[in-house]
Amino acid sequence: MVQKYGGTSVGSVERIEAVADRVARARREGHEVAVVVSAMGHTTDELLALAKAITAEPDARELDALLSTGEQVSAALVAMALQRRGIAAQSFTGWQAGIETEPVHGAARVMEIHAEALEQALQAGTVPVITGFQGIAGGSITTLGRGGSDTTAVAVAAVLKADVCEIYTDVSGVFTTDPRVVKTARKLEHVSYDEMLELANLGAQVLHPRAVENAKQFGVPLVVRSSFSEEEGTWVTETAQGFEQRHVVTGIAFEREVSRIALIGVAVRRHGLAAVFGTLAKNSVNVDVIVQSVVDEAEVDVSFTVKDVDADKALRIVRELRTDLGYTDLVSETGLAKVSIVGAGMISNPGVAAKMFQVLADNDIPVKMVSTSEIKVSCIIPASELDRSVSELHAAFLESAVASVES
Ligand code: ASP
Ligand code: MG
Repeated sequence: MVQKYGGTSVGSVERIEAVADRVARARREGHEVAVVVSAMGHTTDELLALAKAITAEPDARELDALLSTGEQVSAALVAMALQRRGIAAQSFTGWQAGIETEPVHGAARVMEIHAEALEQALQAGTVPVITGFQGIAGGSITTLGRGGSDTTAVAVAAVLKADVCEIYTDVSGVFTTDPRVVKTARKLEHVSYDEMLELANLGAQVLHPRAVENAKQFGVPLVVRSSFSEEEGTWVTETAQGFEQRHVVTGIAFEREVSRIALIGVAVRRHGLAAVFGTLAKNSVNVDVIVQSVVDEAEVDVSFTVKDVDADKALRIVRELRTDLGYTDLVSETGLAKVSIVGAGMISNPGVAAKMFQVLADNDIPVKMVSTSEIKVSCIIPASELDRSVSELHAAFLESAVASVES
């Protein structure tokens, strides 16, 4: 098995001792274990702040060299704690573990793992303790993006053909929604890869989206659980089971700090859409929800959302394109949020979106934009109404005994 421990799970000497105890127990139970660790506590944030204290725009290669040090500290300490318990253990940095990534800094993808060194360690009865979040590309250290240790763990589990990848964190699993917002939120026993992917992409922080993507691709069963208790966690596998199967909606995810930009009267003949979104992409502005409505044969209105932090950049870009695009008006709005319901059961149950709109309408919550996939419906709403809408939707979709589409 692969056991991954997040930042709070290795946040202090006591926590590292507890991790070593848990690894020791798995070994006593007869498991072969490879460990992946995050940096201790807020180390990565602190390292980032150090870089920002030197320069507002740190060089990407050097930033990765800096941020990757956090995980080396925890890997070495966990290895020591295991050795003190009489367990052979050895730390591995990204390159020592053979984790090769694409040559990109800040959010590299894992390309390949040359696992010989890890396999040799395991064969010799040694527990490899691997730094999460980092790899190597052409002689430079790369990192996988914030939260990327999850992805390291899944990639290692895939290449070692582990039976399970356990993700240890400070919450006891994946919840129907954030328990800080809805007190009645409950832990899910099972969630499917597809649902988890939607939830992770839609703002649930518990797993790195790329980790879920890789777990699905390689069929790695994941379990998310707490390193602070013995509670059963949440399984993430191909299909959901039990309670989750009976409910049309599995979980509610949300995201704050959303901005909307609307271009009124974009000239169709100038290929407006391609120009707008092509230019935004070239400037690394991530666009989320897009709505286009046809005004007449010559004109369309286009509105889209971006994260608040990208709003100024996006506005500057569309203003610069004004003559090219030939739009007549530009409207922008901040202070928005996105609330999403997710569930594989939606595929076979019509009326789910209608019920969501009804719940929001009954509570006088205005819906500004909508986007859907087979297994999710997202609404853009005012941020001030977010907590209330999450609670109401949770009550409507997840607090009744039996799944029902009619309200
Ligand atoms: N330490 C990195 C971060 O804080 C990676 C991780 O913890 O997954 O983002
Ligand atoms: Mg994490």
